[in-house]
Amino acid sequence: LFITLEGGEGAGKSTQVERLSRRLRDSGRETVVTREPGGSPRAELIRASILAGEGKAFGPLAEALMFSAARADHVETVIRPALARGAVVLCDRFADSTRAYQGSRGEVDEATLRALERVVVGATKPNLTLILDLPADIGLTRAAARRREGRQAADRFEQEDIDFHARLREAFLAIARAEPERCAVIDARGEPGQVADEIWRTIRERVGV
Ligand code: C5P
Repeated sequence: LFITLEGGEGAGKSTQVERLSRRLRDSGRETVVTREPGGSPRAELIRASILAGEGKAFGPLAEALMFSAARADHVETVIRPALARGAVVLCDRFADSTRAYQGSRGEVDEATLRALERVVVGATKPNLTLILDLPADIGLTRAAARRREGRQAADRFEQEDIDFHARLREAFLAIARAEPERCAVIDARGEPGQVADEIWRTIRERVGV
């Protein structure tokens, strides 16, 4: 079972991945928690390089290929083997982040992004994608607080503005509308406990763990 969590800045993905993994393990399922960009040793090297700003030095297409190279390694060495032995794989961001982020930046055309996704993801599609939805201003306020408190390092995308984040939110919602059988939109405005309960309810309904 392959479950991905998606959403913009400050939506609480990492917190929710952690809570959900605890619940899945408590219910007796082997659970592999992973993330993108990154998730395997080589993909984490690419992540560090992109977030340090080196992707920008290469240009938008090269950067999209760096995200894709990281994903190819992650899928091949972590996700597919875990799914093959029957584990639940819980991934903090996956291919929808590329559709939404790289798509919303508008620097690489959609057909190219689709082709890369087809090649890299292939049949390894998530069974369920939880889209943590939040108005852009709330997400940005949360993310700024997290950086001030030193809970997250700044990265090269930090300077992106509210208009970008509003487009990003719309891009995630459009994915959910286009693929309703795979995606569920979760209201991420509430307290972490509330959001976790809604996620758990959704998972039980949709994939019956
Ligand atoms: O989710 P996380 O904070 O780990 O993501 C790291 C950074 O990478 C974020 O600033 C996010 O905006 C960016 N990102 C991106 N394109 C992706 C995935 C993440 O620009 N496909």
